[in-house]
Amino acid sequence: MILDLKKLFVTENMSLPISYSLDLSDVEFAGEFPLKQPVSIEGQVKNKAGLVTLSVNVSYSYTAPCDRCTKECTVENSFSYVRNLATHIENEDSDSILTVPDYKLNLQEIFRDEVILDVPMKHLCKTDCKGICFGCGQNLNDGECRCSE
Ligand SMILES: [Zn+2]
Ligand SMILES: [Zn+2]
Repeated sequence: MILDLKKLFVTENMSLPISYSLDLSDVEFAGEFPLKQPVSIEGQVKNKAGLVTLSVNVSYSYTAPCDRCTKECTVENSFSYVRNLATHIENEDSDSILTVPDYKLNLQEIFRDEVILDVPMKHLCKTDCKGICFGCGQNLNDGECRCSE
């Protein structure tokens, strides 16, 4: 989805709602395609006294085998993304500014990268996952190890 912001840039107090569903089911992480559900991007872009700001909340779910017990599990995650928009950057080190040289905001391009960066390196079914016993293969979340029997 590409938003044309030409009008917004010249119209003070104008705002555009953003409600976008982004399909990232083709994104591969270590042989898995964990972003099975569409990513939801909700928010707005607005012009306040000439300052154009994009502010959205991005939520996604990530389904993959747990790093410790290998059971497939889904983790919900979300982050907020706020950037000032400008057609050009005067000061090179402004991380909070997103440039839109032709007034076009390509949501797919921006949020594909942002979601991939946000995915945690560690994937656990729960923070205190006990893992599996290497001796008997028991998932220690489901029951006691049987090695000593
Ligand atoms: Zn686990
Ligand atoms: Zn065991």
